[in-house]
Amino acid sequence: MVTDSNFHTHTTYCDGKSTPEEVVLSAIEKGFRAIGFSGHSGPGFCTYKIRDLSAYKNEINALKKKYKNEIEIYLGVEEEALSYLNREEFDYIIGASHYVEKNGEYYPVDSNIEKFNKCIEVFGGDYLKFSEAYFERYLTYLKIRKPDIIAHFDLVTKFDEKNSIALGKDPKYREIAMKYLKGAVNVGSVFEMNTGAISRGYRKTPYPSMELLYELKRSDSKIMINSDSHHRDTIAESFELCEDILKDIGFQFIYTIKKGEFVKVPLK
Ligand SMILES: [Zn+2]
Ligand SMILES: [Zn+2]
Repeated sequence: MVTDSNFHTHTTYCDGKSTPEEVVLSAIEKGFRAIGFSGHSGPGFCTYKIRDLSAYKNEINALKKKYKNEIEIYLGVEEEALSYLNREEFDYIIGASHYVEKNGEYYPVDSNIEKFNKCIEVFGGDYLKFSEAYFERYLTYLKIRKPDIIAHFDLVTKFDEKNSIALGKDPKYREIAMKYLKGAVNVGSVFEMNTGAISRGYRKTPYPSMELLYELKRSDSKIMINSDSHHRDTIAESFELCEDILKDIGFQFIYTIKKGEFVKVPLK
């Protein structure tokens, strides 16, 4: 396996189950070269955002020093669309969207099936309108912010394997997702292949879908593999599966952060 790092990691500072130090020790044990933390930002009503931002930054920065001879540690953030943080304070930002907006109200798309179905209900039951609204808002944010990494692009398919509504099976949804992916490609950020829904038992495959991955290859986009881990045991979740998929599609390189810079490494 080529992947020896993870840059999408949650801890007890937001909605993760392990402390940053527990995650660092697990990463060292797994032989990781680097680990990056990416606590959530979010609007005021968000229940899972980093509660104490300065304590979060202080702790990650202290761990960088403590373990500097063993592993590279990065201070990142998973920035919620339109909930901006001061970029200067972080080594990188992952741009994500976990909400859809309707009439000034925000509805979470990935909390659970009931809340996901509520998102569609507020669009009169029209899941295509919901999908348009979700991607439109996300792309607007991506164009403004140009985050270093684009998170789980098609998060709205999280419950496809468990729900009666399976967006990914509908060609019209897939057309919408493709249209916005092409827009996001122009932003020039690194896309992540994200295994977070696998470790939590929702899906058997990572984001984005195969069809979107083929488009990322066709457009020569940059891609990296991240686990979106919420527990120290899942920081390398399904990384081999991701590498196999990328190789099958024809990717020859994946991206990672080394000594503070995004670099590509060959997928052997
Ligand atoms: Zn996320
Ligand atoms: Zn995340």
